[in-house]
Amino acid sequence: MSEHAHHEHDHDHDHDHAEVDEPENVEAEARRQLALAQIRQWGDPALRMQAHEIEEIDDDVRRLAERMFGLMEDAQGVGLAATQVGVLRRLFVFVDGDDGPRAVVNPRVVERADETEPDEEGCLSLQGVRVPVERSTRIVVEGTDLEGKPVRLELEGYTARVVQHELDHLDGVLIIDRTDDERRREALRILRPRVVLR
Ligand SMILES: [Zn+2]
Repeated sequence: MSEHAHHEHDHDHDHDHAEVDEPENVEAEARRQLALAQIRQWGDPALRMQAHEIEEIDDDVRRLAERMFGLMEDAQGVGLAATQVGVLRRLFVFVDGDDGPRAVVNPRVVERADETEPDEEGCLSLQGVRVPVERSTRIVVEGTDLEGKPVRLELEGYTARVVQHELDHLDGVLIIDRTDDERRREALRILRPRVVLR
């Protein structure tokens, strides 16, 4: 998911146009494009597949998580699921507010607030698309960390939204599946030409 990153990015553009061409910004944009090129994009079948439980947390899993941390940071996203890098295993990474990036293996929802709210979401796999998605305002997720230790996340608001977005990815569900018909049609108009160009 790329919601906040893009928001802040847009803000920067409004306020200091002159700095867009600064060398560090040019390099950051180049890194972002390189990362996006390694993240599966709309039309890729992996995005529609169900990820499998991870039975053993070994070095392969830890290496995968490290790679995903790097891609998430370079792509300026706030979350990334293994299916988005073509790996059908139940693992995602996300930015946990001020605590920084963390990984969750075999996440499962154990509690979910009945109350929901809509907000615009983007996705690193659906470039150029932002659509409103209704999400639970509070969620409790359990799983394990990269050492196999149990983790329990009690999340609210924006972070709860990010994690629900990543959980969806592990089941092959995308934001366009969760928005209204009109916004879905608009999104598909933006996405379709890219598929044709492949
Ligand atoms: Zn996404």
